[in-house]
Amino acid sequence: MIVSNWKMNGSKESVEKWLNEVSKNIHPRENNPCVFCPPACYLDLSRKIIDENSSLIKLGSQIIESSTQNALTGGISSQMLKDYSTDYVLIGHSEQREHYKEDNSSLRLKLNSAIQSQISVIFCLGEPEEIKNNNQTQEFLIDQLELLEEEDFGLLTLAYEPIWAIGTGLKAENKYIDNIHGFLKNYCQTRFDLKQNVSVVYGGSVKLENCEEILSSDNVDGLLIGGASLDPETFSKIYNIS
Ligand code: PEP
Repeated sequence: MIVSNWKMNGSKESVEKWLNEVSKNIHPRENNPCVFCPPACYLDLSRKIIDENSSLIKLGSQIIESSTQNALTGGISSQMLKDYSTDYVLIGHSEQREHYKEDNSSLRLKLNSAIQSQISVIFCLGEPEEIKNNNQTQEFLIDQLELLEEEDFGLLTLAYEPIWAIGTGLKAENKYIDNIHGFLKNYCQTRFDLKQNVSVVYGGSVKLENCEEILSSDNVDGLLIGGASLDPETFSKIYNIS
């Protein structure tokens, strides 16, 4: 799975250009989905352009509301996301955890909302720099996994994104990524008694120049890309390498 996370970037024009170009450049395979996550205000436009191009690019949302009550100014519910055939949602991104003070219980409600509506979840987790420096990464990640339940895994992909690597140009070393992904897979398999494989994608300063090496690990099932995904040509090249 290769995910483009636009964060709070873009315009109607750039979304249209990106989707038209990427639709021509790539042919997403079912076993390697391409997920486009624009800001929520461009989901409608994105759906239209994806359909016009008969593209297999999947639509992902950066947000979902945990509450199902409609008296919530500013909320975007799972039903609204379904209305645009949104297939995926990012939950637990470190920028949202920090800005909106999200904790495990509020994230759990978001997961419930997505899963009840059959929207696949890309669940982001990762440690800050001081945790890494104190060799406490595994304990930190175990805490972040605490809210998950066995039933989630049918619709769940983990996105390991060390916070110190997001938007900094400081990609984690390949051996480190391989180790952490291996740990996450083994831990979830055992803790939740899973029959199926746990899919784990990596995010944090992925670039065209480093993507092939990251993907060469058997423990890496894809990429979550912020900054480098904004350029349609670069993103298409990354997808075609994967
Ligand atoms: C992200 O947005 O989740 C991300 C990993 O950003 P970047 O690729 O820019 O580090």
